[in-house]
Amino acid sequence: MAGKGERIFGLIGFPLTHSFSKIYFNQKFEAEHIDARYLNFELPDIGDLMEVVAQYPALSGLNVTIPYKEQVLPYLDEIDEDAAKIGAVNVIKIIRKKNSLKFKGYNSDMIGFSDSLKPLITPARNKALILGTGGAAKAVRQGLINLGIEPIYVSRTPKEGELGYEDLDPTVMDAHKIIINTTPLGMYPKIDTCPDIPYGLLTPEHLCYDLIYNPDVTLFMKRASEHGAEVKNGLEMLLLQAFISWNIWNE
Ligand code: NAP
Repeated sequence: MAGKGERIFGLIGFPLTHSFSKIYFNQKFEAEHIDARYLNFELPDIGDLMEVVAQYPALSGLNVTIPYKEQVLPYLDEIDEDAAKIGAVNVIKIIRKKNSLKFKGYNSDMIGFSDSLKPLITPARNKALILGTGGAAKAVRQGLINLGIEPIYVSRTPKEGELGYEDLDPTVMDAHKIIINTTPLGMYPKIDTCPDIPYGLLTPEHLCYDLIYNPDVTLFMKRASEHGAEVKNGLEMLLLQAFISWNIWNE
């Protein structure tokens, strides 16, 4: 039974197969005696969002995952500046006043990424290659810009201002000391794949950051560390996002 002051939080997406957030938050609520519950809302259509909001008057915040990070934008009353630049939202704060309801959207992918990258920045690491051009890549790009690091996308089908994998020659690899994998290559269960970059051109000055956190050490990270590069997986980014969501919902 719901307690009188119980708050509800949740995740919207489709399909929702595995959910780190649900386990993380419900364990947190129990351990810290917080009167709240975290639910998964598997919505076949983003239009179903308003039904969920009507059904759960105690709903105070949402996380948003694939495929709704962009589709949810028209439902928001306000959007954080960085999330607007990225064009995607993955945290919603629901502000309920007597007769009104307000939704504000944020992008915690960006904040989680840049907070986890900050301690690893060196003077030489002032330019970055972003492998992939999907939703996570856009958040990474904005995070890099906010940290004063110049990003460029690497794509299988490069558009103007982007690089192709065949462009990654010694000059490009030397100029870009941060390389971030935002492609799904190497993610469980296809752990024997990795982005097609010239690993032999990596040095200890390079940082190879993989957004993937399962497995702990991806093939991208393994091959990069064989050439002395510093490596990092996406676990800290994932954990930071949960902290960030909680702070947004409570601030
Ligand atoms: P996405 O929208 O599917 O984008 C991935 C991009 O990777 C695509 O736009 C594509 O760019 C490239 N790509 C896709 N398949 C590829 C292939 N077979 N070979 C080479 N490139 C390929 O995915 P996303 O939502 O951005 O997420 C990307 C990854 O980041 C996922 O593994 C996700 O789990 C991870 N992620 C982690 C966190 C975290 O907290 N650690 C947060 C968000 C996402 P081009 O077509 O331009 O090549």
